[in-house]
Amino acid sequence: MKKLKLLSVFVLSFFLTYSQTEDSTFIRHIADYVLTYGNSYEDLRILTKQIGGRLSGSPQMYKAEQWGLKSLENVHPDKAWLQECMVPHWVRGAADEARASYMVPLKKEAKGKSVQKKLDVIALGNSFGSGKPLTGEVIEVNDFADLENKKDQLRNKIVFYNYPFNPRFVQTFLAYSDAVRYRGQGPSRAAKYGAKGVIIRSMSHSTDNNPHTGSTNYNDSFPKIPALAIGLRDADWLSKQLNSGKVEVTMNTHGYFRQDTLAHNIIAELSGSQNPNEFITIGGHLDSWDPAEGAHDDGAGVVQTIEVLRVFKALGYKPRHSIRFVLFANEENGGRGGAKYAEEAKAKGEKHLLALESDEGGFTPRGIAFTGTEAQYSKITAWQKLLCPYGACEIQTGGGGSDIGPLARVLNTPLSSYVPDSQRYFDIHHARNDVFENVNKRELELGAVNIAAFIYLVDKYGL
Ligand SMILES: [Zn+2]
Repeated sequence: MKKLKLLSVFVLSFFLTYSQTEDSTFIRHIADYVLTYGNSYEDLRILTKQIGGRLSGSPQMYKAEQWGLKSLENVHPDKAWLQECMVPHWVRGAADEARASYMVPLKKEAKGKSVQKKLDVIALGNSFGSGKPLTGEVIEVNDFADLENKKDQLRNKIVFYNYPFNPRFVQTFLAYSDAVRYRGQGPSRAAKYGAKGVIIRSMSHSTDNNPHTGSTNYNDSFPKIPALAIGLRDADWLSKQLNSGKVEVTMNTHGYFRQDTLAHNIIAELSGSQNPNEFITIGGHLDSWDPAEGAHDDGAGVVQTIEVLRVFKALGYKPRHSIRFVLFANEENGGRGGAKYAEEAKAKGEKHLLALESDEGGFTPRGIAFTGTEAQYSKITAWQKLLCPYGACEIQTGGGGSDIGPLARVLNTPLSSYVPDSQRYFDIHHARNDVFENVNKRELELGAVNIAAFIYLVDKYGL
């Protein structure tokens, strides 16, 4: 009996070791292919340099859709199609402007002289334009508690939310989650007390002065006042200037909405050989903000998604489950693509094993984050040693993303996200420097390697 037990332990460990060797060999092949013959960097060059910023409804969005479908079809998936969804069509209108005016004391004159300074600003996405130049005295608030304290002083003023990224968060996404409520809710909460405009300290801790846009969400109960993000150096300057006296700002913005317009999720599929009706989804979002090229956000996730399909095809991998490669529409200012994908999955009664999103930039791999059951999490943790040689050494909790979030809400699908290093992401996020030149080829490719390896393991072993 004891011998039998020993034998079965031996047999089990032999198979475990054997399959681990088989897995590490296959993952080595994935890496060799992507790092030697991969095309993700060239794909990204075309997406960013030949198409550029691709906000929902813009001509570039339509070009990007055609490019995305063609790029997926060129890799010969079993199927590729467009999934229709209606998206908001917000238009910036023209360049956003703001200038500050303040008094500088002169030595022998009591009155001093008025000085003007141009500020580096950009209107928040989904915000309404000022119509004509709008001038008001600036009131700085540190946070929402400070706004409440100063609520009686805000009528006809421009509220300046100067809430910084908390530098103590090592994961910069935590600083973003902490601060982004000022961009989302700040304008309406100031409008509630009669403010006529809002300036937000950019969601960043970069050392440059580039302003960072991103969506705001008006509350329909209050006037929809214009709102700008301001670069960090100008934010610090404005705060300092307000300490020494009154500052007026004149802002001029032009944003407006056109009718909702037709857009598409771009989807390719490799059909499963054993469980064709069980799906694994991987994706990134094809839309991006207008001031830049959307290289890290989320061109990187888009080309990594295409690259995973490419390497599976190149290695002749026949997945057990059906794998979908999705370039989502409208993540930035509506989330309609992700919502549509989940809605259709539910309507068709599809079973979704896992969804993974890559939308944290094309930087050096650090790990995979996962949201599911404890048992699933421990199963994934056991794969850490297979992924770690390629960079994804941390198996974290809390995976997800806004494109795949709806799948979890409607179908309870386990979610994961590809986690690259986060230190530089908010230097470029939604700002004019999110360009191709700021993406490193090796880092981008290693991201695709880790995603492909993780998806291979999920497909092979399930969750
Ligand atoms: Zn994004």
